[in-house]
Amino acid sequence: MYDQYIGHDIKAYAGYVKDEHDLLACSSGGIATALSRLIIERGGYVAGVTYSSDFMEAKYEITNTLEGIEKFRGSKYVEVQKGTIYKEIQTLLNDGNTVLFFGLPCVVAALRSYLKKDYNHLITVDLICHGPTLSQVHKDYITYLTNKYDSKIVEFSVKKKMGSWTPGYLYAKFDNGKSFCEQFYHTEYGYGFSVLAKKSCYSCSFRGNNRTGDIMIGDFWGANKADKFWNKNGVSSILVHTPKGNDLICSLKDIELYETSFERIVEQNPNIIHPRSVRVEKKKFEKLLFRKGLFYAVKHSRRLGTRIKGVIKKIRKNSARV
Ligand SMILES: Cc1cc2nc3c(=O)[nH]c(=O)nc-3n(C[C@H](O)[C@H](O)[C@H](O)COP(=O)(O)OP(=O)(O)OC[C@H]3O[C@@H](n4cnc5c(N)ncnc54)[C@H](O)[C@@H]3O)c2cc1C
Ligand code: SF4
Repeated sequence: MYDQYIGHDIKAYAGYVKDEHDLLACSSGGIATALSRLIIERGGYVAGVTYSSDFMEAKYEITNTLEGIEKFRGSKYVEVQKGTIYKEIQTLLNDGNTVLFFGLPCVVAALRSYLKKDYNHLITVDLICHGPTLSQVHKDYITYLTNKYDSKIVEFSVKKKMGSWTPGYLYAKFDNGKSFCEQFYHTEYGYGFSVLAKKSCYSCSFRGNNRTGDIMIGDFWGANKADKFWNKNGVSSILVHTPKGNDLICSLKDIELYETSFERIVEQNPNIIHPRSVRVEKKKFEKLLFRKGLFYAVKHSRRLGTRIKGVIKKIRKNSARV
């Protein structure tokens, strides 16, 4: 079934960082953080994604410190501002520095095309990608939380682990000491993420054998208790495309690493091969999002079945409180 894709990856692994506290602070198995630490310890630079100080946008930054990579932890499910990152990476590479770059597959391809040549000391890691949502969804939700709690956000995550890997939670901590936590896919943000992505994501060509990083990482969604690599706090899937990528993965310290197969990884993660499909609500949701904002758009484009489930949930919640 997957014959045409086998052979593109030189190795397939499942893995996670050993330290439980560390693992709970990462999105999947923490392999991105482990790779970043290794490069910093070797004197290199890491380019990754963080939120702006007001959490209104996600943006690229580059660092050569262990403190600097801390804020890269966690998936940012929104379009990312690139700023001058490609230029900065080019300058560092031309000066002989090692650079580890994290990006969605199309962004890794864009960096390669900007650089116009291969560098031995550039390592690229692409994330398995279902497509980020639009900035409007993110900004409307941050504005809603800031107004509701009448306080600045000091910590924000769309994939917070509340004691285990799944389900993921949307979590915000505020300057006034309060916090907000709800299952991500039960929030308006989660709905926006599942219904609306950039136009190019619906016909994404960075699939199958057109994956351009040295290493691809993501969630190992098919992992379960019967697997020797199971960990309830998170497991990463790792597809290695180049010997350079494999050397780096095999040099990681403080992780558990198990060989597996491409078929096993893709089984529950079809996003590696196929682009997302268009949901029926997308058109209406997108139109309302820009005219009336996220909350109105969710309320008026959710399908009837989902709306009824929402009402039942609310009634149950209220009666449980009495
Ligand atoms: C928009 C989006 C869609 C995704 N869709 C899927 C999917 O369908 N299936 C799947 O298995 N995995 C998906 N992932 C990947 C998954 O959510 C994790 O990001 C990945 O497994 C890394 O986990 P980790 O524990 O190793 O990372 P951590 O150790 O927590 O570190 C996170 C790393 O991700 C980088 N990062 C965060 N957000 C972005 C971003 N927007 N663009 C580029 N780099 C970023 C950071 O720089 C950091 O290096 C998606 C990620 C994103 C951002
Ligand atoms: S789905 Fe494709 S086009 Fe969209 S962000 Fe991911 S890699 Fe890029």
